[in-house]
Amino acid sequence: MSSNAINSSAAQEANPKPLYADLTGWVTQHFVPIYRRTLGGDFRWCAQWWQHGEAISRLMALWYSWEAMRLQGATGMALWYRDHLDHQLPVLLGPRGPFYQCTENEHLIPHQARLVPTPSGWLVSGSSASPAEEQLPED
Ligand SMILES: [Zn+2]
Repeated sequence: MSSNAINSSAAQEANPKPLYADLTGWVTQHFVPIYRRTLGGDFRWCAQWWQHGEAISRLMALWYSWEAMRLQGATGMALWYRDHLDHQLPVLLGPRGPFYQCTENEHLIPHQARLVPTPSGWLVSGSSASPAEEQLPED
């Protein structure tokens, strides 16, 4: 074995390739087939999960941690379940989670809370006092 092959092998052990190439692969080939729940009550799913920014973010966090922890010996997956999936699943699939108004067969665009534009100068960086203290309205 050449030194390049040894170095390449060591580099691969330090930074192993993910088992799935992208989030869609992990969701469609691992997450949905493995973590099945009765849908409709405590658990919601949207077939268009990719339309929900929060779901993408939570699934991405689950996938990244799963890719890392699946390689951590005997307890990696147990810790992944305890520290990641068991926390995220009830939120992600829960009736108050990102799929709260979707069903398996119908996607509804989630309501976005209204925003009032931040007043000019409200968020000033480099100031010693907090902007909120500087600009509190007088009674
Ligand atoms: Zn949806």
